[in-house]
Amino acid sequence: MKALTLFSSLALPLLGEACLLPEELLDAVPAPHMVLPRQTGNTGLGVGQGDRFDGGSVVPRGPGSQEHGTDMGLLLNVKEIHSAVRALVDEYGIEYFEAPDKTYDGNPIFGARAGGTPGCASSYHVYFNAAIHARERGSADNIVYFMADLLYANKHNTGLRYGGRTYSNCDVRRALATGIVFTPLANPDGVAWDQETNTCWRKNRNATSAIEGNPASVGVDLNRNFDFLYDYIEKFHPDVGPSLASQNPAAQTFQGLSAFSEAESRAIRWVMDTHPSLGWYMDIHSYTGVLLYAWGSDENQIRKPYMNFMNSTYDNVRGLLPDDPDAGDVYGEYIPSRDWADKVYAAERSKLAMHAATGRYYDAYPAALLYPTSGASDDYAYARHFVDPGLSKIHGYCLEFGFGNSQVRSCPFYPSPQQYHQHLLETASGFMEFLLAASEIGLGPEGTC
Ligand SMILES: [Zn+2]
Repeated sequence: MKALTLFSSLALPLLGEACLLPEELLDAVPAPHMVLPRQTGNTGLGVGQGDRFDGGSVVPRGPGSQEHGTDMGLLLNVKEIHSAVRALVDEYGIEYFEAPDKTYDGNPIFGARAGGTPGCASSYHVYFNAAIHARERGSADNIVYFMADLLYANKHNTGLRYGGRTYSNCDVRRALATGIVFTPLANPDGVAWDQETNTCWRKNRNATSAIEGNPASVGVDLNRNFDFLYDYIEKFHPDVGPSLASQNPAAQTFQGLSAFSEAESRAIRWVMDTHPSLGWYMDIHSYTGVLLYAWGSDENQIRKPYMNFMNSTYDNVRGLLPDDPDAGDVYGEYIPSRDWADKVYAAERSKLAMHAATGRYYDAYPAALLYPTSGASDDYAYARHFVDPGLSKIHGYCLEFGFGNSQVRSCPFYPSPQQYHQHLLETASGFMEFLLAASEIGLGPEGTC
């Protein structure tokens, strides 16, 4: 039955709700009243109030290095996410960094790198990014606790256990040796706002384009702000839906004033630019229970290399799924067949590991089959080396963890305590398998240090 599930999903495009709710997919431009008031009822698992890592002096431990069933407590608040990373840096001697530009509210976009050679940027091959969409709660927690587990197990010569999936110390060493860069809080302003107000806030908090009297018009959808088919009006068929992007500041998918107009998306580009041997990228979102991979613009195809995102001949025909041969609008995004096979291999292994952790079934398929997008970070990551062959090839993924919380009707992105724990187990198991698959397939260019 599971093979059938995958098969049927490949044949049925436009499946999902991931990141956008059904009503948001129908109309990505909410009226002013669509901005939720501050929620005070059931908002799922609460957000921690203090700082459990005490500014970096208490080291976080993930669920995989603790007794099975350990209660991981409340969601990490923005201060705790930073303190947790500082603590990992101090405890394990990994490297901390901040991107050059601050956010609209003046916050740094920070990260760390582990498992490579200190001081040698080209020894890092895998990049995890989280919390680009503010309301997708637990996104940062997943990567923080996973890195905490991996570093703990490496130092203390243990394995890791995530529910029904276990990894040996040998696996731990091999996974860490891929060289991992991570930015757990890509949208610090948006997450802080969402945690403070419980308004199911998705975008950042840039008010440059805001319209007076319309609070929905604050913020840019950071995952539409990357330079991949950014000019969606020119680059896509006019009938492609609002999932693509919007120029309306009040839309959930507002793309901003130009590609990389936002400090947050520039930070992610900066991480890619400053780590020249990256081969793998995963952006962590919720929810739909699926691991997506390139492309997000249209169906993949392997036969026509000239039919690709750089070829303006196909402007105005991209993005329709399924294509209608009678209308003469057949377009598929070119992907070398070996790349496609590599992407599928890593995705299939990761999704099965996630299933093994908790018994919940994850799917895996190309991103456009969920819904077509413009300006997304995973497509940008993979597109870079097609645009400039001098850059490393980065396989781009987008993980949509979890299946939503129907108990929080105002915002199903807010997990229950049980779901939060399931997400931590599933994603960590998936990350481990992703790293192991990447190391088998190939990590990218050798470091030069
Ligand atoms: Zn998202």
